[in-house]
Amino acid sequence: MSITTKRVFNFSAGPSCLPEEVLKECADEMLNYKGSGQSVMEMSHRSAVYKAIIDHAEEQVRKLMNVPSNYKVLFLQGGGSTQFAMVAQNLGIHSHKAAYIKTGVWAKKAAAEAKKLGIQVDEIASSEDKNFSYIPRVEKIEGDYDYAYICFNNTIMGTHYEYIPDTGNIPLVADISSCILSEELDVSKFGLLFAGAQKNLAGAGVTLVIIREDLITDEALPGTPTMLLYKTHADNGSMYNTPPCYNIYVLAKVLDWIEKIGGVKEIHRRNVEKADYLYNYLDSSDYYHATAEKGSRSLMNVPFLTKETDAERAKEINAKFVKEAAEEGLVNLAGHRLVGGMRASIYNAMTLEGVKALVAFMDKFAKENS
Ligand SMILES: *Cc1c(COP(=O)(O)O)cnc(C)c1O
Repeated sequence: MSITTKRVFNFSAGPSCLPEEVLKECADEMLNYKGSGQSVMEMSHRSAVYKAIIDHAEEQVRKLMNVPSNYKVLFLQGGGSTQFAMVAQNLGIHSHKAAYIKTGVWAKKAAAEAKKLGIQVDEIASSEDKNFSYIPRVEKIEGDYDYAYICFNNTIMGTHYEYIPDTGNIPLVADISSCILSEELDVSKFGLLFAGAQKNLAGAGVTLVIIREDLITDEALPGTPTMLLYKTHADNGSMYNTPPCYNIYVLAKVLDWIEKIGGVKEIHRRNVEKADYLYNYLDSSDYYHATAEKGSRSLMNVPFLTKETDAERAKEINAKFVKEAAEEGLVNLAGHRLVGGMRASIYNAMTLEGVKALVAFMDKFAKENS
């Protein structure tokens, strides 16, 4: 890595950029949080000063996401990936059957984990036929399923649901790791929502779970460890064991920042503006194209390819793009190996200025290389 004194525009899919104001506040409070004489990293999670921090974090999640009162907000560990198992262990307890919509890597991993735990996984729809470049339309999900599962924003494929499937009485579970708080979402349509923090909320290490209270029971698949029961964490205010204290503090600050700039409505407006700027350029370019189909496109993750069709030559061009972009302070633009090309993740904290700098670079690169 080259040395720079300037902050870069970071297009990483995760961990990803955080609002600069938040980082500055964290820096200011690093040695002495609000006159406590300690860093948040050092303080007891049972102290009054820390209790105020975690309470505020929950309050902000509830306020900004409009979480109904019959839902619990939990701060867990183990990342989004641990939720793949926890969902199956805690919810797959009656018919031991679940419906999964297969829209890419993260949905597949979640389904595989459920199968491993003995759940009968019905893959009720898939977009694998076109390399997961779209979201299949599933109007209604019916059957004796314990739950239905979707990955709401597909970080790798750059696709996003523009609708919420109607599951009737079947609890709908959604992985919103890479789109949480990027848009307004009706929590009441879901039984359980979860998100690893490192895309839109905080540093890596805390996982936010929002779960409807009737889904929190003493029952779970046999052998489920105490730490993997939602009930354990719900009964103990996310303090059964030491929570990821510092990241919960960062998460609260990120939510304060969202509130300050105008709430989720304003964040969404900004996200649409940024994404439109990039997609409009891609759609008008004869050198690049977006891989996700219109009508399924993510506001957060934008994979794109150049028109280079020869595999060897494309690999060279992509590497050149990523290297030259980094030299201009536009970093982490390499595409995922399953899609190829490039990917720009433009989460909440990415500025329009950053997206404009990227498009200016892309245009220059296209002229020099086509
Ligand atoms: C990043 C990501 C995950 C995995 O998260 P970890 O915290 O690394 O386990 C799961 N689902 C989606 C949609 C993601 O973007």
